[in-house]
Amino acid sequence: SNVLVCGGTGCTSSNSELIIQRLKEEIAAKGLEQEVNVIRTGCFGLCALGPIMIVYPEGAFYSMVKPDDVPEIVEEHLLKGRIVKRLLYQETVVENSNSVKSLNHTPFYEKQHRVALRNCGVINPEDIDEYIAVDGYQALGKVLTEMTPQDVIDVITKSGLRGRGGAGFPTGRKWLFAAQNQADQKYVCCNADEGDPGAFMDRSILEGDPHAVLEAMAIAGYAIGASQGYIYVRAEYPIAVKRLQIAIDQAREYGLLGKHIFDTDFNFDIELRLGAGAFVCGEETALMTSIEGKRGEPRPRPPFPALKGLFGKPTILNNVETYANVAQIILKGADWFASMGTEKSKGTKVFALGGKIKHTGLVEVPMGTTLREIVEEIGGGVPDGHTFKAAQTGGPSGGCIPASQMDVPIDYDNLIAIGSMMGSGGLIVMDDTTCMVDIAKFFLEFTVDESCGKCTPCRVGTRRLLEILNKITSGNGTLEDIDRLEELCNYLKENSLCALGQTAPNPVLSTLHYFRDEYIAHVTEKR
Ligand code: SF4
Repeated sequence: SNVLVCGGTGCTSSNSELIIQRLKEEIAAKGLEQEVNVIRTGCFGLCALGPIMIVYPEGAFYSMVKPDDVPEIVEEHLLKGRIVKRLLYQETVVENSNSVKSLNHTPFYEKQHRVALRNCGVINPEDIDEYIAVDGYQALGKVLTEMTPQDVIDVITKSGLRGRGGAGFPTGRKWLFAAQNQADQKYVCCNADEGDPGAFMDRSILEGDPHAVLEAMAIAGYAIGASQGYIYVRAEYPIAVKRLQIAIDQAREYGLLGKHIFDTDFNFDIELRLGAGAFVCGEETALMTSIEGKRGEPRPRPPFPALKGLFGKPTILNNVETYANVAQIILKGADWFASMGTEKSKGTKVFALGGKIKHTGLVEVPMGTTLREIVEEIGGGVPDGHTFKAAQTGGPSGGCIPASQMDVPIDYDNLIAIGSMMGSGGLIVMDDTTCMVDIAKFFLEFTVDESCGKCTPCRVGTRRLLEILNKITSGNGTLEDIDRLEELCNYLKENSLCALGQTAPNPVLSTLHYFRDEYIAHVTEKR
């Protein structure tokens, strides 16, 4: 048997390490070491039910496992072959049978399509052999031995892959710009500085499948002519940092990073740089300034990083999820990737589902899936008898999607058209008890804290916005304050230096657009 235990941050914080330890002890006590492997994996996705354990070959999905449940699982399931029904995820229970329903046929997983998350919860992320066993580093081998750099860029361009960090810029075009600029040194960077409240997509990929990111960065290095990569990862992600470092060390040991990779002339290495948790360092120029060892503040563009990026050299920066798609595109082809999604948004998107939703967790769906499918079918709906009011996408840069827009297919362009944005993939669900003005205030408090202070519109403007919001929610506002709020939002959007300030008003503007009555109620009913 193989016993997979989730070692992602969610399950680790609810004691999965102790469960692994108890499992090993019990298995040893029963003399089962030769027959049973205990494997610590990345996130399975259904974080609400953690700690999670899956026992193969039966595929028994045990949820909310406690360390004290371990002796029973070992005695009953591993020793006697009897599935412990009381611990099974209810959707997989088959009455009067010792077998279980496949996870692929449960509401949470049925509509998902896992590309970026393909190995999360499947392999041991600390063992390069397990990654290689699922075709890992095959794409890099193919690229180096069968393709020219231009071929690689053509495939990525044709696939329609767009940046998953939020802005949705075409990845192939970004690589082409950097490839066309000649320089003695170029760089490939990975933005692993995920900072939106409620977002944990990149964290889970790094924890569950770090080699997928390394392989893709090496492919990008070959495509643009770079020999050095940097992963800028936040220090608050200790499990991700540890597994990335293990993965880098193992890849070097296997000759998959370093000199003469696959016995070719291609040299490429990767180093980690730890961020100290400043949200603005997720902005590309601030991130590069921080890697250079300076204070992480944005710099004006142009020049764009493809021409003058890290240390003044041509640089590409993609986020973790973008990279997690690359090897699959090389192996399965651009047409395969482009067959998923909508006309202008190809492939899949990972969302971190949170807030007032039954199945809190990580989901990956084809672009074009509706919010209703994500919330009601995959997410299991709003709990405790309440109704859906809105979903916030894109974190502090995004906006709210009201119930009236639930059937809009989610892609980059549709979300902007309805006043929100894809962002990196945080999706926070709110129910009928939520005050939308409070939500706007929550995100604005975040941006006030995180504004780097370099430019006046953002440094002062976000504070003034928050003051007006506080005045409104304390029952002291007027109708004129609502108009001033809107006017100031538009001023910030147009005049801030970087995306943080330009998008900071979005949560206010979208709630004003869809829930203006709540703002008016605060000032007219003085509540
Ligand atoms: Fe800094 Fe805000 Fe200006 Fe960006 S917009 S440079 S975060 S002050």
